[in-house]
Amino acid sequence: MGRWSGSLRLYEEAAEHLAGGVSTAFRRGTHPAPVYAQRAQGARLIDVDGNEYIDYMMAYGPLIHGHAHPAIVEALTRQAPLGTTYGVQHQGEVELARRLTRYVPCADLVCFVNSGTEANLVALRVARAYTGRQKIIRFNGHYHGWADPLLVKPAAELQGLAPQAATGGQSAAAFHDLIVLPWNDPGALEQALAEQGDQVAAIIMEPVLCNNGCLMPLPGYLERVRELADAHGVVLIFDEVITGFRVALGGAQELFGVTPDLCVLGKAIAGGLPLSAVAGRREIMQLVADGTVSHMGTLNGNPLVTAAAIATIDLLAADGGAAYQRMNARTDALTEGLKELAAKHGVPLLIHRVGPVFHTLFTDRSAVSRYEEFAQCVDQAAYRRFSDELFRHGVLVRPSGLWYVSTAHEEADIEATLAAADRAFAAVK
Ligand code: PMP
Repeated sequence: MGRWSGSLRLYEEAAEHLAGGVSTAFRRGTHPAPVYAQRAQGARLIDVDGNEYIDYMMAYGPLIHGHAHPAIVEALTRQAPLGTTYGVQHQGEVELARRLTRYVPCADLVCFVNSGTEANLVALRVARAYTGRQKIIRFNGHYHGWADPLLVKPAAELQGLAPQAATGGQSAAAFHDLIVLPWNDPGALEQALAEQGDQVAAIIMEPVLCNNGCLMPLPGYLERVRELADAHGVVLIFDEVITGFRVALGGAQELFGVTPDLCVLGKAIAGGLPLSAVAGRREIMQLVADGTVSHMGTLNGNPLVTAAAIATIDLLAADGGAAYQRMNARTDALTEGLKELAAKHGVPLLIHRVGPVFHTLFTDRSAVSRYEEFAQCVDQAAYRRFSDELFRHGVLVRPSGLWYVSTAHEEADIEATLAAADRAFAAVK
């Protein structure tokens, strides 16, 4: 572990003061060493021991322009001396809200909070107030944040199972109003709505199941969900915390042409600063506007995060969306290269992708569209060995299999990554 001795020393020291030595449970499992960053620029991250990595974790999604993009740094540097939070309104909020209502199809009105979890809580509250109903339909294997009313343990098999706690200390009452269904299964949704539709306030889903396999909605599925939501007077919420601004300026709803009633945005929206938003139809968001639904938060929409978000979005919108073309071209080269290398080494690999985000599934299946199938047929242990090898060769990826390509990744980064992947596949086959 000589190469990571500085990180390991800090990790030990951290555990004396910081519960578990990390700031979010996801980071606890970093192999083969818990990396401590020293600095990062573009697609490269350098740890405290001086090891350099080509980064595809991208901080779990927010860094759509890579680390420390000059335009975002400039926006922050310009704003910081003018004040970091005011507790009163400022122009940045107006400018940012205007961009959201322009680019995001469902957005007539928006409101800001700080994290994806918080924004989902606001969306559920708005949906309940709008419909006067309590129940929420959510889907097995989808992630909407860590709060009690959003979190359930994913199940490898779903046979009318009652929702299970995902963490110690979770309120059992929070499950009371949840109906957990298999995703990409219109029949299951039809049946649940036929039985309990008059009690259901919202259907919430990731429009592409990015958190578990980057599973795509089956053709016609989103359209059918939209129809069923309308037929039963249920608010349809797309959790676009990953897909928002990442797969298109208007997110997955633009890409698939299906408009939800509300959507939740986070991660890429502010290029690495803590900002999230709920955006939706005027008639529904009106309940926030008129104070029927309380929406609060000390640091909501502060001028630092809005400055970063405006810079991030303007970079994405510039030159007719050249940023997306660039990210997609790099992702084409990377995913094609990975497929060729896997074939060369005889490793069964399936790649699911939406724009510049993709999941590498170690499976011999030719397609996976259900979470339950994903949970059963993917060799996570083999992928874990592969991602550990990549790490040893200077490529940082999430051990779950999800990769993010940013506008900062250069052709040379992709080539170097494929050279590392060649060695990593050889080591795990
Ligand atoms: N929804 C989705 C789809 C997510 O991927 C995440 C975070 N991974 C969240 C919500 C929660 O966002 P946050 O971590 O900012 O609370």
